[in-house]
Amino acid sequence: MARVTIESLRKEYDTGSVVAVDDLSLEIDDGEFITVVGPSGCGKTTTLRMLAGLERPTAGTIQIGDDDVTNVHAKNRDVAMVFQNYALYPHKTVFENMEFGLRMSTEMVEDEREQRVVEAAEMMGIGDLLEDKPDELSGGQKQRVALGRAIVREPDLFLFDEPLSNLDASLRTEMRAEIQRIQNELGITAVYVTHDQEEAMTMGDRMVILNHGVLQQTGPPTEVYENPVNQFVAGFVGSPSMNFVDVDVRRDGDRIQLLGPDGRFQFDLSATYADQHAASLTADRYTLGIRPENVSVASGAADNTIEGTVEVVEPVGSDNYLHIDIAPEFIARVESTVSPEPGEQVRLTFSESDLHLFDSETGADVF
Ligand code: ATP
Repeated sequence: MARVTIESLRKEYDTGSVVAVDDLSLEIDDGEFITVVGPSGCGKTTTLRMLAGLERPTAGTIQIGDDDVTNVHAKNRDVAMVFQNYALYPHKTVFENMEFGLRMSTEMVEDEREQRVVEAAEMMGIGDLLEDKPDELSGGQKQRVALGRAIVREPDLFLFDEPLSNLDASLRTEMRAEIQRIQNELGITAVYVTHDQEEAMTMGDRMVILNHGVLQQTGPPTEVYENPVNQFVAGFVGSPSMNFVDVDVRRDGDRIQLLGPDGRFQFDLSATYADQHAASLTADRYTLGIRPENVSVASGAADNTIEGTVEVVEPVGSDNYLHIDIAPEFIARVESTVSPEPGEQVRLTFSESDLHLFDSETGADVF
């Protein structure tokens, strides 16, 4: 069983002046596929390296299965890591590269090693490349070898450090599916670091979002997307990013209105919403969040509309991104049939249920 338990994990560098990972606690189920995302420098690679045993934690513990491995050397952990740069031995053949880890870490007899390598190579579709050297292979083939090398070890835990970032877009899509297929087939627990949030959303059973070494949120991609716990997660997950607009709160009896900057709009909360959230809306100013795909252009009469001027129309296949001057980087994602001219005035609407409101000071989600 390879359930992974991380408790209060901390990593400092440079005698404590850099805190790369700060009090991280996380349970990963046996067979679960976890994706770890966050901006550059947020501690993704450091976390992975601690799981691999390549970096010693400053504090905290790591348990794999029933074993506390916090102080166990990398070569004695049942963990396989796949890197962005493939990390293949240039002078060894594909077969030798894949077999090498088995020679190093087990007492396995030659026949069994060979059988494992051949099976893993078949699984990765590189059975006919076993005698080739890495420099004869394409990037995609090299990554298949690196994956094959991880598979032959039959590890308890797969660790991936941005394995697809050197591949072109179409190959990346193909390899994503391949990695998921293999992880599914083998049922191995996997932790997959990426800075590509789309990759994290499509591949992970669960996403882990880090910022400045601190865990922000963990949950299935849809849940994180729909219910971000704070403005950072809301802005990081989803593409294009969620729109943010500063709003003032005006209360008039039981009525609650959200007022946009410079009186640009007023949004009346329904009686149910106002009633539900009145107690938590204690401040005068909040940050309103609305996803580009939840904004539409009003045709005819509609309540709660926002007037804005179209600055740029960006066609992206079946949709247009309308950049509107309501806030810096305010985008409405609409069908390509909705194609106003730059400079045109439009009225935008969105549904109350798609609104998010964040505390302007702390960024915490209010609703
Ligand atoms: P990226 O997406 O850019 O790879 P990351 O999220 O993987 O970033 P880490 O590489 O884990 O982030 O780095 C986290 C922090 O720790 C950063 O501030 C980084 O500069 C620092 N750091 C990482 N390794 C070391 C090291 N060996 N010595 C000193 N500081 C380090």
